[in-house]
Amino acid sequence: MKAAAFAYARATSVVNALDLLAAHGEKAKVLAGGQSLMPAMNLRLVSPDILVDICGLAELRGVAVRGDWLVIGALTRHAELQQSGDVARHARLLWEAVAHVAHPAIRNRGTIGGSLAQADPASELPACMVALGATIVIRGPGGERRIAAIEFFKGIYETALLPQELLVAVEVPIAIAGSTHFFQELARRHGDYAIIGLAAHAVVEDCRFADLRLCFFAAGDRPVLVRSARKLVDRIVTSAAVTETVAALLEELDPLEDQQASPALRRHLANVLLRRCVATLLSRPELDTG
Ligand code: FAD
Repeated sequence: MKAAAFAYARATSVVNALDLLAAHGEKAKVLAGGQSLMPAMNLRLVSPDILVDICGLAELRGVAVRGDWLVIGALTRHAELQQSGDVARHARLLWEAVAHVAHPAIRNRGTIGGSLAQADPASELPACMVALGATIVIRGPGGERRIAAIEFFKGIYETALLPQELLVAVEVPIAIAGSTHFFQELARRHGDYAIIGLAAHAVVEDCRFADLRLCFFAAGDRPVLVRSARKLVDRIVTSAAVTETVAALLEELDPLEDQQASPALRRHLANVLLRRCVATLLSRPELDTG
């Protein structure tokens, strides 16, 4: 199938992109890498009247360290994240996770902003942003606003973005002393969307968790930050404590049914991933800050 007819405008600046979005409202769609939008248009799942192409906006591309934050422009491609020394040094979880996003051809075009704005609950990067406590930076007609990643994802393909707004950057806290991470996804083949996955950020002190943020993906209608993880913080982690946390996790999770797996299978795999994660984090010799 081919997309329905649409108009096309290549934005010359962020201000110009915002003007175009304001002029066309819900009938416009932002085009970044096109790796999700173009297939959806070809399948006629979406049929915008006009595409606002932001690909040429260099101001939205690149990774920079600013104080305690790693600031990543929305148009930074997945492949650029993989190649970035700053991402490898300061946000190891993200660096490891991005290798699991699709295939090289898609990573060469797809952008972090596109992935977050798309808000596919099976995507790796939204879960990493929630686990890392990142902030999403949005620009719209009223100026700039910042929103915590946990508040940004609202449901399947739904976010806090308004039609006339652009996601311009994401701010990721730089790993502090004692930081470590875990990332694992269970997929039928490397590059496929996960059946379920877990992105975790922890701060370990004296073999205890001073902080633990576990975020599952493909486990609900959005990234699922595990509330019961706090049962493992500031205490000696015994196998009884892990079993108690798994029981609480299974109460919390409400996995979806789809062609890949039943809710029961996803619950079982979540249990497996949580146990692996805790064991790995507490035994890991190397920490993210070196
Ligand atoms: P686009 O396709 O250009 O846009 C996606 C959506 O976000 C559109 O609605 C667009 O309007 C909006 N948007 C984009 N940028 C902005 C912005 N700055 N501000 C506001 N709105 C914006 N993804 C995964 O996470 N994991 C996978 O394993 C995976 N496998 C894939 C396999 C295949 C075969 C394909 C085709 C895709 C796969 N994807 C996967 C999807 C893809 O990697 C990402 O969704 C994609 O990279 C999104 O980025 P993009 O720049 O291409 O966004």
